[in-house]
Amino acid sequence: MADETDSDRLKEAADWLRSARHVVVFTGAGISAESGIPTFRDAAGLWTEFPPDQFATWQGIMAVAAKSPGRLARFLIALLEPLAEARPNAAHAAVAALEKHTRVTVVTQNIDGLHQEAGSSRVLQVHGTLLEVVDRTGQLVRRLTRDDLRTIVARLRRMTDQPARSVLLPWAIRPMAGLRPRGTYRPRIVLFGDAMAEPDWSQAMEAAEACDCVLSIGTSRTVMPAAMLPSQARAAGATVIEVGPDACTGDICLRGKAGDIVPALVALAHK
Ligand code: NAD
Repeated sequence: MADETDSDRLKEAADWLRSARHVVVFTGAGISAESGIPTFRDAAGLWTEFPPDQFATWQGIMAVAAKSPGRLARFLIALLEPLAEARPNAAHAAVAALEKHTRVTVVTQNIDGLHQEAGSSRVLQVHGTLLEVVDRTGQLVRRLTRDDLRTIVARLRRMTDQPARSVLLPWAIRPMAGLRPRGTYRPRIVLFGDAMAEPDWSQAMEAAEACDCVLSIGTSRTVMPAAMLPSQARAAGATVIEVGPDACTGDICLRGKAGDIVPALVALAHK
């Protein structure tokens, strides 16, 4: 952030952001890393210990539940505990503040609800959310609070010490997933092989076509089809600003942590 080239890039990005009439803010796991939620793919990410072929498909999860409920409990603790304790960080807050100056559509791959908690009013969750529970037809059964997640984590911790894990697992996760007289219920999240969350995904594609600037924050651009959104917007004429520690493919690359760069960018664009 300190050398002249970085500050030139920041200024150029701020100019684009200031002149844009409709900004799509496209976010991935990286924007929530500084809220204490690890990304899945980084060295200490969830996929290292819990491979996605077993833990990112419903079929895989059911198989682990049947064979090794203690292992599924450990996965759920690793997934849910950071979400239960997370608070929006400076990057989420800066994205929310951008709405005071221009039309903003947040398109997030995240399932953590932190954009809404920071105050963003138009958030499209293309991979769903862990804070809503739905039935087989997609109807809302209940909303979960972070306290509910804490309760589930506490129950899971208690059951990992018990011998009757296969009986206790359904009890532990009952607020979030299970069976009721009208059928099964589960979190409204998109796993590998699932269709994208609707109507959010269709609306995200429309916003990508209509916007004049995309601010892409903290995504590895590997999860399809969500990852194609910035290039689709670019093909329709938008400028793409990318924020994150990795090499980038956007028109303007701002290398570093979202919590440092996004507040500085928004402040410079709208001082
Ligand atoms: P990813 O894990 O594939 O990539 C995260 C990206 O963020 C990486 O490029 C990493 O270098 C970058 N990053 C790490 N720390 C950062 C920081 N402080 N500031 C800016 N960037 C940072 O994540 P993805 O591309 O979002 O896709 C993975 C899938 O996993 C998504 O579908 C997402 O829903 C899900 N996921 C969600 C959460 C969440 O809800 N918070 C967390 C992990 C994974």
